[in-house]
Amino acid sequence: MMGMVAVCAALSLRHGGGLEPLKAAASQAAAAPTNSLEILEVRPSFFVIAGAGANIGVQVGEDGVVAVDAGPADGAPAVLAAIKRISPKPIRYVIDTGPDIDHVGGNEALSKAGEKFFSGSTLGGGAVDTFAPIISAEGVLRHMAKSPSGGWPTEVFNYSRKYMYLNGEAIEVLRQAAAHTDSDVFAFFRRSDVVVAGDVLDTRQFPVIDVERGGSIQGEIAALNRLVELAVPSVPVVTREAGTIVVPGHGRLCDQYDVVEYRDMVTIIRDRVRDLIKAGRSLAEIKAAQPAKGYMGRYGNPGGAWTTDRFIEAVYRSLTKEKS
Ligand SMILES: [Zn+2]
Repeated sequence: MMGMVAVCAALSLRHGGGLEPLKAAASQAAAAPTNSLEILEVRPSFFVIAGAGANIGVQVGEDGVVAVDAGPADGAPAVLAAIKRISPKPIRYVIDTGPDIDHVGGNEALSKAGEKFFSGSTLGGGAVDTFAPIISAEGVLRHMAKSPSGGWPTEVFNYSRKYMYLNGEAIEVLRQAAAHTDSDVFAFFRRSDVVVAGDVLDTRQFPVIDVERGGSIQGEIAALNRLVELAVPSVPVVTREAGTIVVPGHGRLCDQYDVVEYRDMVTIIRDRVRDLIKAGRSLAEIKAAQPAKGYMGRYGNPGGAWTTDRFIEAVYRSLTKEKS
């Protein structure tokens, strides 16, 4: 479909001429351990760092850098070096899309490398806040209670939308209730027309529904529907290869059509599991009936941390939890 072309075009920038300034900067930063990371220029003031464990969104401009997700702790030096290649300005905010360690592990390093907007230095008095605030849904702080306090979010919220206006554009941090976990947000950059979706969208596999930490299949589908509503495809002039770019927590960049497809896949599997529950089947019988049939080749993992069986179990558990 034509919408996919836009994504390919954005991805191909890293091989084409779109990153000339970065190439020039690269020689200066040659010693920095960025080798394993890819920097994608998806919009003039918006970049995605891939390969750090989770996708990281980087908005840049006059005001500084806004980073969405920090990657895992051990990848932080490489991520910081990559951010420096994109912009010499200080990191002003870190936004966490969720509580997973591969998204928040680098919080402390990124925050400490940053500088709060309107710190003492810019106001000409008082102590300088030599850190960037970390924004997240309230639950992230709760889930990080056992990890070192330096990486804890400093500005948490539990309402539906937090907003800022930085680098010449509106930034909306939109909370999604009970989806991947109980503390997921999307970061929507309105002028760049980029949404960083976090683990609600994972193009490598079935979405991780962390029931233990408040995730649910219904909230996951609601969040995917929200993404579909936020994103606009390149219509009616599909050849323009424009449209909203959706950055998943893991995997390749998406457009609205990709999110629709993913949402439909998740919804179909939810419906199949629900029908089997209604027919009185046990969890073991439901797994045996293969409700993910038709999608396992593309999204299923036979082994590893998030198997197809674990996904089906999470769908089952959130649906039966709902009833009781
Ligand atoms: Zn993740």
